[in-house]
Amino acid sequence: MSNDPGKLIIISGPSGSGKSTIVAKLLETCPLPLVVSVSATTRPPRPGEVHGEHYWFLSPEEFQAKRSRGEFLECKEVFGRGFWYGTLKEAVSSGLSAGKWVILEIDVQGALAVLDYDPEVITIFIDPGSMDQLEKRLRDRGTDSQDAIQRRLQVAREEMGLKHHYRHSVINDRVDEAVAQVCRLLCQYDSRIDKQP
Ligand code: 5GP
Repeated sequence: MSNDPGKLIIISGPSGSGKSTIVAKLLETCPLPLVVSVSATTRPPRPGEVHGEHYWFLSPEEFQAKRSRGEFLECKEVFGRGFWYGTLKEAVSSGLSAGKWVILEIDVQGALAVLDYDPEVITIFIDPGSMDQLEKRLRDRGTDSQDAIQRRLQVAREEMGLKHHYRHSVINDRVDEAVAQVCRLLCQYDSRIDKQP
């Protein structure tokens, strides 16, 4: 079983689509050997976020040094807020070589860049349902100003327009159902199932 090669998975979706919750619950409930790749970012940590667990929090200089050494599989400035985010090649390759299924929780532009590099990557788009529902979720979250919510909704509209680049799309109406659906989808790629009598 340990000889099974790992797989690369991208889970994207607009801010407020619930993708982080889905990924966290997937790790708890899905029987596949899933791990999440820890990205690097120049955004400051939010309360409770841990260096090396949620992100590698880097200074702009540290980030650019890694970038110029070619250490990122993809990286970009997200939301035009001046913060950089990037997927570290090392985080991906160490997971894959250990036979893990490595999840990248990244934005749509990052997903398109990774697809260029590896068209075989399993891509899943978390669809928030309707824009009304997304707006309600962002408001209920209570972390953003009215302006920020409008900006996120605009980005969300653009991201929804790129949904067709993904192999799968899952509507997050009810979170437990969405988690179960993502897990079922991923299990279809598990060659170990074919080996069972
Ligand atoms: P947040 O600041 O809320 O943690 O994340 C903001 C956005 O950046 C989210 O859409 C998240 O998916 C995206 N993101 C996180 N890590 C990466 C990464 O390594 N690469 C790219 N392209 N986007 C990322």
